[in-house]
Amino acid sequence: MADGSGKKSQNWESNRIKHALHLPGWVFRKDSETTLRANGKPVLVSEYQADMKGSLFCPECCCPLFRSPLNEEANKTGKNAFYAHRRNIVTECGLRTKKAEGKKYLSEEEAAQAIVDGKLVIVEGFLQSRPATPEKQAEVYSQSAVEDQDGEIASVPIARHRGRSFNLPAKLTTVRGLCRKFDDNLYKYYVFPGAKHARLLLDSLRNISIMDSPTQSEILGFGRITSIWDAGSNPHNIRFVKLEFNRRGGYADFSIKIQKYDAELHDLNEGAIGKFVLFYGIVRESGVGLAVSNLAWGEVSLLPAKYDQYLI
Ligand SMILES: [Zn+2]
Repeated sequence: MADGSGKKSQNWESNRIKHALHLPGWVFRKDSETTLRANGKPVLVSEYQADMKGSLFCPECCCPLFRSPLNEEANKTGKNAFYAHRRNIVTECGLRTKKAEGKKYLSEEEAAQAIVDGKLVIVEGFLQSRPATPEKQAEVYSQSAVEDQDGEIASVPIARHRGRSFNLPAKLTTVRGLCRKFDDNLYKYYVFPGAKHARLLLDSLRNISIMDSPTQSEILGFGRITSIWDAGSNPHNIRFVKLEFNRRGGYADFSIKIQKYDAELHDLNEGAIGKFVLFYGIVRESGVGLAVSNLAWGEVSLLPAKYDQYLI
């Protein structure tokens, strides 16, 4: 979508800035961006307080943000309220303009620094095998353990010079890892396996409820669980985790097909109805519906409920 001027683009931009970073006293282009990222508190539009004015910054480019309309009562959600970048400050920001070729880097050093700063992640793959002693989903969220593992050096075509690639350290990660600190991760750039572009996680997510066809390659999909159905009582039987689906393209439903044993370890059971789940996989036709199946251990996770607002 083009970033023109006027109300239309403002609405588009505002939809993408789910939260601002609040840090009183921090000054744009004077103080360290690392400090802002580490100490700024994410504030949703609905959480805005009048005294935050002037201390809110963009989670991507750190530019000062304003909340519109300004005059509305502090706690009033106001359905049409939104955050926008200060008009008189120019920044190159993926939330202002979505570029078809994704984020490009001037040099290998610049890209390597972005990785060190936690703004860019090169994903070599998702963890395939189940750990010897898998942790239950609920237990994992209460820990600060990092699930990422170092991978190989990868050659990625994210140079500003056409046709050039950079050699950068890649990670083995998990969808569960993406879901932890989901609010931070949304505004990082990711290069997923085989991808030619560095995209904001926000722009990589696909809402499966409005899908109308299978996919050729893996997608990072999300959906809300509506029901659970088991094909049998054996732990090795397949569980169908059904997701909210608008029956586009003539398909009746959308399921994640997963072995019951693994489903339980991921807390994908009756207790998860109403929650959002994320997966990384290929969407295929399955009977009268669409489905993802054969997901590896690291390719599926429930989203902690506190992040629901980021997907609605
Ligand atoms: Zn920005």
